[in-house]
Amino acid sequence: MADILHVEVCQKIDSTLPEHEVEELVNAELDANEEVILNKSLVAESFSLEALKNHVVSIFCSCKQEEKTHVKLRAMNIKIHIYRLNQEEVAMETMEKDGEEISAAAHWILPSEEFYGLWENLFYEAGVKENLLNFIETAMIYSERKVNHHIISWNKVVLLHGPPGTGKTSLCKALAQKATIRLGNYFTRGELVEINSHSLFSKWFSESGKLVMSLFNQIKILLQDPKALVCILIDEIESLAHARKTCTGGEPSDSIRVVNALLTELDNIKRYPNVLILTTSNLTEAIDLAFVDRADIKQSINLPNEQVIYKIYSACVKELMRTGFIETEPIQDLAYLKMMGYEEDSKTKHSLMLFDLCRESIGLSGRALKKIPFLAHALYPTTTKHCTLVKYLRSMHLAVQTHKES
Ligand code: ADP
Repeated sequence: MADILHVEVCQKIDSTLPEHEVEELVNAELDANEEVILNKSLVAESFSLEALKNHVVSIFCSCKQEEKTHVKLRAMNIKIHIYRLNQEEVAMETMEKDGEEISAAAHWILPSEEFYGLWENLFYEAGVKENLLNFIETAMIYSERKVNHHIISWNKVVLLHGPPGTGKTSLCKALAQKATIRLGNYFTRGELVEINSHSLFSKWFSESGKLVMSLFNQIKILLQDPKALVCILIDEIESLAHARKTCTGGEPSDSIRVVNALLTELDNIKRYPNVLILTTSNLTEAIDLAFVDRADIKQSINLPNEQVIYKIYSACVKELMRTGFIETEPIQDLAYLKMMGYEEDSKTKHSLMLFDLCRESIGLSGRALKKIPFLAHALYPTTTKHCTLVKYLRSMHLAVQTHKES
């Protein structure tokens, strides 16, 4: 059976063309090509059909073979997903106490403009992102078809765990956005609610119980619409377990009451077919919380290895070339370097220098890596003008050293 090629088409907000006509145009565009670029948004300027340029912002193609950069179309089973971005800004669910406002949750309607392009700019080892997405899609489709839980068991709780700054929270948001786009046949939109557990367990303990109740009442209203995919994100889930552990016998404290209320509510809403619970944890060891313990979808997110760092740095350097900070030079992808046996020639010279920098950067988190290009500019201002790639890579090297020393 041919592999599925997912073709995600972002339709312009002001385009009034019906979906089936957009689909026809996309098919015509694909027919005009033998192969497509994978895992990279193709923007309107690159389309050959003028009509498509008027209605579509970008097209993003992906398939199981995450490491490939191109794929031959005739070998694939094409699945087109058409969506429009929601431009509304995030809404904060707040509560007032003694004239001070605390935020209980942030709420986005998906697919949101805010998360556009996030997925393709998160880099992990092969398979991590696609597998997570496949898991989620399968779980949601099982729910939608009402597969009997007593016969086949599965659940819709995702846990991403690993060191801080490895992109877990960003990946949860990107997954919610992707799932909304890919499951467009089942749901008309997504609702992402990020629960701010820090403020729920802050000094307002006695009020927090009420806050949890009112928050979940609002979530349940969202869940009433079966056409909405409701994604609940809880960051640093270990803080709940921690709050529970600190209670030392006797009367349960306010904090434990709030944690228990939250866990009970989460357990309750799990039965809705259209809910997806996304959690993150900075701990690598087990977390003492039954509801994540039973999560089917547990994925450890590690510090990036040199291959992953190469992808992060390449994207950064290309962005600085696009914005005119660095002279444009070709940056080869890793598959090419490997094919050339990592031998130096005029085509591979700069890419190999970048690869050396990746080796030096092992041990840094994705968050730290993404700051290196900026630090290189800020700390070594000679590079703020249009400079050569070689000169810029030297500054990056100094920035990595400085970061490591600090
Ligand atoms: P965590 O939740 O693991 O602490 P975040 O999602 O808050 O991490 O990520 C912090 C920043 O680092 C974000 O801007 C994210 O895009 C970036 N980042 C972290 N890991 C990666 C990665 N593997 N690829 C690309 N960006 C990353």
